[in-house]
Amino acid sequence: MNCSSCNAENDPQELSCRECGKSLARSEEDLQKVDPKSTALIGYAIGGVGFVTLFFVTINLEALTLSSQDYLIPLLLTALGAGIVFYARTLKK
Ligand SMILES: [Zn+2]
Repeated sequence: MNCSSCNAENDPQELSCRECGKSLARSEEDLQKVDPKSTALIGYAIGGVGFVTLFFVTINLEALTLSSQDYLIPLLLTALGAGIVFYARTLKK
């Protein structure tokens, strides 16, 4: 595989050019490509933490005298996770 910037020949498994050190990703698109599966997993993890926290706040609302403000962060986390999962779904073709 030839380097796109200095045209030196590199082994296909090389990640960067041995002559100039430039990344050997075929295009900018390759560099920016997001893996839908791992993105969805991150979304589920964040949403899961938000949901568990939301559940915790709900069951402890009276015992710990939590205010409605304590819902804010769990709701944001749940929404963020759902948003990431939704975004990951749009990546699939
Ligand atoms: Zn090069």
